[in-house]
Amino acid sequence: MDKLVPPVDAENRLILNRVGEFFTGSDAPSLPDEAKWRGSWAGSCSRQIEYNMRGVEQSDPPSPADFWRMGLGSIVHEHLNPALDHWLDTDKSVILHEEVRTQIGPNGWGHIDMVLELPEQDQKVVVELKTINGTGFKRSIQGQGPRHSALLQGSLYANSENADLLVICYLAVELLSPGWATAKGFDNLGRFGAEWHYTPDVFVPLAEQEIKRMEWINECVTTGQRVPPMFSESDPDIPAGAVINQPATGAWSLTDGNQLLGRGTTWQCNYCSHQTTCVNDQEN
Ligand code: SF4
Repeated sequence: MDKLVPPVDAENRLILNRVGEFFTGSDAPSLPDEAKWRGSWAGSCSRQIEYNMRGVEQSDPPSPADFWRMGLGSIVHEHLNPALDHWLDTDKSVILHEEVRTQIGPNGWGHIDMVLELPEQDQKVVVELKTINGTGFKRSIQGQGPRHSALLQGSLYANSENADLLVICYLAVELLSPGWATAKGFDNLGRFGAEWHYTPDVFVPLAEQEIKRMEWINECVTTGQRVPPMFSESDPDIPAGAVINQPATGAWSLTDGNQLLGRGTTWQCNYCSHQTTCVNDQEN
């Protein structure tokens, strides 16, 4: 007998529409009064940061699907807590500080996932935890590494805390299959997690460059100037100086006078919470 599979009917949903109604709104967290920018904006397009600094309402707020993804990330963090508690109960050589607030440069502010003190080694370690889907996780452990935005964010935090080490830890919301992991040489823990360790010679220059960029954007906002839509100089995917000229598609170009030096497309515009505003601003 054939398997009976009723059609998936988007017009006839009993549960999902109610879930979708619940997961709506903006995810823009507030800033302390004295701060102008957040460490979590690191690596974003400068125009998007400008909109954030100016407090422009999100024209493209997170969708229910985005809230679902963010919720899964929160669940992973909660899932982690008993394991961290057990570690601290059984290992007195480590002192853990969670949810640490930190000042970044003159006007920045950040919320660090974890700061570890290792008194015996006289070391301080800043840990940036990131959850990620299975596809992104696979890419990251096969040479791509963590997203540049995660490295910049972690660098800002490690620099502001004068840390000896920055650890970016990826936790995947989907497991790699045992067969794939074995074939690629990853062990059991490597099926859902990976760590990248960075020393100050790497993270301090990155942090200093990103603080300079944030403060430049802040200066432009304060003096009423528009900021060109560009990315961090250290961004490995878009050359320094390239400007996004089509926010509707993410198309960027790098020019020198009339000479075109390069062009490409970034995915970031299609995930930007100010895309519609940006497209309209560009047209006007
Ligand atoms: S749509 Fe693109 S260019 Fe415009 S603010 Fe967002 S990321 Fe920047």
